[in-house]
Amino acid sequence: MTAPILSIRNITKSFGGIKAVRGVSFDVHKGEILGLIGPNGSGKSTLFNCILGQLQPDEGSVEVKGVPVTGMRASKLNRLGVGRTFQQLSVFPQMTVLDNIIVAGQEHKGTLISRLFGPTDAGLTQAADQLIEFFRLTHLRDTPAGSLSYGQQKLVDAAMAFMAGPDLVLLDEPAAAMDEATERHFIREFDEPAGGVNLTMLAHLKERLVAYNAEHGTTFVVIEHNMEFVMSLCTRIVVLAEGAIIAEGSPDEIRANQTVIDAYLGG
Ligand code: ADP
Ligand code: MG
Repeated sequence: MTAPILSIRNITKSFGGIKAVRGVSFDVHKGEILGLIGPNGSGKSTLFNCILGQLQPDEGSVEVKGVPVTGMRASKLNRLGVGRTFQQLSVFPQMTVLDNIIVAGQEHKGTLISRLFGPTDAGLTQAADQLIEFFRLTHLRDTPAGSLSYGQQKLVDAAMAFMAGPDLVLLDEPAAAMDEATERHFIREFDEPAGGVNLTMLAHLKERLVAYNAEHGTTFVVIEHNMEFVMSLCTRIVVLAEGAIIAEGSPDEIRANQTVIDAYLGG
């Protein structure tokens, strides 16, 4: 048996008097699409930040492919094949879609200044163009990212996370803020017949993630509020409430779990 691609043990993190994450442990295996769900404020983003070195956990450990990485910075994690997207958008609004994705690919090399003004690597451009095509953003390639809709920027964000050729990607609410207006916009943008059915933006993102997982064996850990998105995307789900795991299982098991139903209904 090979080591899990991600293994976290007893992760605990407080902010002042608030215990945001309380002793969370789980493993993620290669090729899985693990959903991390829970009510607002249940500690999902804090847990991600502890895994990804944005925050130092008060207690606990993180291993990637058997290598201890607790508190390791994102740039080093990149080199171990770990990518992420943020709940808040992280695109540079003035830069084109292409340049944003290229810069993300340069992230592990040098300072921000050398990333922005250093020579462009032809290999990076090619890799970025492949991702642009993969996410069906070709018509927006040379458009400043800031003039894209929120949902389109979310796709650019996802493409940026894939530039390091990661084996493991953590996505924090990739479908968030897909309000009706954004979604209508996307139905137009990505109006694409698939067996006679028009895909919505959400379905487009989900379909692309599943395709990437199938083609590259890439492992995903996904935080998302949209229950249908999570249930249809993920192979396994971990549920947090008040910083602790209250349930873990297949989408069907989670759907039927009374503790989960109660936590979501505020019972
Ligand atoms: P989720 O992502 O599940 O909505 P968060 O991890 O963002 O939850 O937040 C968990 C708890 O920790 C919340 O009570 C939140 O207010 C608190 N919290 C998160 N980040 C900080 C911070 N930087 N400083 C203080 N409190 C924080
Ligand atoms: Mg969050």
